[in-house]
Amino acid sequence: MSSKISRIGVYTSGGDAPGMNAAIRAVVRTGIYYNKEVFGIMRGYEGMIENEIVKLGARSVGNIIQRGGTILKTARSDAFRTKEGRARAFENLKKNGIDALVGIGGDGSFTGLHYFHQEYGIPAICIPGTIDNDLPGTDFTVGYDTATNTAVEAIDKIRDTALSHNRLFFIEVMGRNSGYIAINSGIAGGAVAIIIPEDSQTTMDELFNKLDAGGKTNKKSSLVVVAEGSKLGGAMELAKKFSERNNYFDIKVTILGHLQRGGSPTYFDRVLASRMGVAAIEGLLKGETDVMVGIRRGEMVFNPFSMIIDHIHEINSESLRIAKILSI
Ligand code: ATP
Repeated sequence: MSSKISRIGVYTSGGDAPGMNAAIRAVVRTGIYYNKEVFGIMRGYEGMIENEIVKLGARSVGNIIQRGGTILKTARSDAFRTKEGRARAFENLKKNGIDALVGIGGDGSFTGLHYFHQEYGIPAICIPGTIDNDLPGTDFTVGYDTATNTAVEAIDKIRDTALSHNRLFFIEVMGRNSGYIAINSGIAGGAVAIIIPEDSQTTMDELFNKLDAGGKTNKKSSLVVVAEGSKLGGAMELAKKFSERNNYFDIKVTILGHLQRGGSPTYFDRVLASRMGVAAIEGLLKGETDVMVGIRRGEMVFNPFSMIIDHIHEINSESLRIAKILSI
């Protein structure tokens, strides 16, 4: 594959997600496969600004495909939001001879790279790495499958104890703006109700009437899955409000929190990250730039940043319908 690109920089940025290591490995090895040099930029844009840049070889990414987190570390960088910060970052890339970038992260990271590309013209591609699955242009983001499986495993365990004591559990999963983890872990975990940030229609009364109805029809236990960004309030708040008006159940709350970010990535995330890493490098070498790699109906695609930024990945209305039917 012919291209003027000779040195590629790869970094992870924003929130960490399981499968980022598999993506790094794929980017590094594909770059080397095409006779390019690959450099790891530590701590996202912070490392770009502070010149924390290391050369990576095929062996330096060995034994990481199965590991959660990111060997390159990740960070949020206020300095990169400024023109001065981005100028320093570009100076460091020049010093290291880096002439193309692959960023792994969420929409904030892409926005930063989009501006950087516009200002300095450096070829740039992003790989969606975020547990939230909130990016348009791709059916799945790296990390989402693992995080959802982690949530399902936790929900199953909570169900055992809920059933033993006739309890009602409010389980809070991650998702400040996105209900993907909640809706699918809720369906898979058999939740009686699923509350997601995208839902501005369900009222507190509707939710509580549903839970009351379960109590009256002798439901032995109930699990409500709540995304942290729910418009009705988080799991704590909902549990408090419900307990003020009802005494059918012993009410408990579990907030899953950061355990959803960690752990060994599922086979799905490893394969997705591997495919996206290969696609990112092959895309760059074919002249793709200012785009995000995505997966659509099983195929790798490239989406312009303008399509990603300020758009949302909507929840499939069929998922909502299924959840409603199955929770009676
Ligand atoms: P997650 O979805 O997991 O939170 P993210 O990539 O969206 O990941 P952000 O914290 O939003 O995480 O963004 C990561 C970094 O990208 C920021 O700390 C900042 O350095 C850079 N960034 C975000 N928005 C901009 C912007 N408008 N201009 C320049 N840089 C930006």
